[in-house]
Amino acid sequence: MNNPNIVIIGAGYGGIMTAVKLQKSLNVNEANITLVNKHNYHYQTTWLHENAAGTLHHDKTRIQINELIDTSKINFVQDTVTKVRPDEKKVTLENGELSYDYLVVGLGFEAATFGISGLKENAFTISSINSARLIRQHIEYNFAKYNNEADKKEERLNLVVGGAGFTGIEFVGELANRVPELCKEYDIPREKVRIINVEAAPTALPGFDPELVEYAMNSLEARGVEFKIGAMIKEVTEDKLIFEKDEKREEIATNTVVWAAGVQGNSLIVDAGFETNRGRIPVRDDLRAPNYDDVFIVGDCAVIMNEETERPYPPTAQIAIQMAEHTAASLTKLVQGDNHLESFTPKIQGTVASLGHSDAIGVVFDDKKLFGWSASAMKKVIDNRYLLKLGGIGLLLKKGKLNLFK
Ligand code: FAD
Ligand code: NAD
Repeated sequence: MNNPNIVIIGAGYGGIMTAVKLQKSLNVNEANITLVNKHNYHYQTTWLHENAAGTLHHDKTRIQINELIDTSKINFVQDTVTKVRPDEKKVTLENGELSYDYLVVGLGFEAATFGISGLKENAFTISSINSARLIRQHIEYNFAKYNNEADKKEERLNLVVGGAGFTGIEFVGELANRVPELCKEYDIPREKVRIINVEAAPTALPGFDPELVEYAMNSLEARGVEFKIGAMIKEVTEDKLIFEKDEKREEIATNTVVWAAGVQGNSLIVDAGFETNRGRIPVRDDLRAPNYDDVFIVGDCAVIMNEETERPYPPTAQIAIQMAEHTAASLTKLVQGDNHLESFTPKIQGTVASLGHSDAIGVVFDDKKLFGWSASAMKKVIDNRYLLKLGGIGLLLKKGKLNLFK
């Protein structure tokens, strides 16, 4: 019998970790493994808000895929998936087509824009190296332009972030650090620049520990972040954002709106005809797609229920990595003729969100609350542990956040 073809699409947390684990657990003569990704690098999505604000260069965030995989065991194809055809066991790429016996879908997330008028056309999202780099350059361009116009435009200096979930909060934390540097660089008084975080729910970080939310808001407000809470974004145009608060419509003049108000699975999975729930696939216990025994879903394209809370687990890198490890173990079993697959249960080790340099909030080890420097150091430890797991000590030394005090 021919070796089975395993195709992994997407080299985010889910895809790359599946590949790295499979190259250790399977021999070359057991399976043909192909990894497909748009770019020749893997990026750490969890650092993109820093790249977008300009507090961290994007080269620190991306890692060449060839440095992570053993090319004698895994065939890497740099290409863009345009269609997944599960009934034919094929994947269409911009430049070709692949057939599979087993498919791992790790195509990640995209912004959910909820049909809000003008959002797609006029707002930025933090979703890839390219999108983060664009935000950084757009902000710098507006700062540079400001003093070169006779008619000084306030919208160039009003930075609006939609959503005060973890992404929005982490991003305004970075902006709060970056803006004073930009002001110095572009001769702009700090008080002319506004960083405004607009959140529809009655609180920032809805559902998170209220004491830590208060700490985060105080820390950010002290560094000049303004919050509009209970404010639902309704429309974005080229030069303003419109929101509704207390049944009144208000406007902010701005040409920088960064939309961080929700994510959904990559739309290719809906187009593929998989059963989906709000753009994500409600996977079976063993992470296979409903009705397809040969398709595993890892990361943000999958949704799994938390039986305790009866709500879906939030899509996170933490869970994507665990899904990848589980999927690699399942595929190894299948290839080696064992069809008894284990159920997947995520082990949530905590949640830590950064608020900029050396400040953060978090809950770890079930209920231990952390804030300030200790939370920030913990976040770097979590990030460093991922690098160690992915590429060993060499990768950690090259890309890690080794200074826990910064
Ligand atoms: P992704 O990481 O999104 O990777 C998808 C990959 O697929 C990418 O390499 C992409 O280039 C590739 N791809 C996409 N489409 C195609 C295509 N058509 N063809 C080929 N390749 C394609 N979670 C945490 O647990 N902790 C955190 O601290 C944290 N911080 C975050 C900070 C930010 C700013 C954001 C936006 C998210 C954060 N998250 C965090 C959530 C976390 O990043 C996601 O849950 C995680 O990235 C999902 O991993 P994934 O493998 O599903 O997809
Ligand atoms: P999210 O869905 O968690 O938060 C989006 C926020 O936007 C919510 O607070 C929501 O009320 C608000 N919102 C929605 N529509 C709005 C509107 N029209 N106007 C104003 N506000 C609106 O999305 P996210 O923050 O991008 O996070 C996505 C996933 O990534 C989550 O699972 C999150 O846990 C994870 N993440 C984790 C970390 C971390 O662990 N440090 C950091 C970033 C993201």
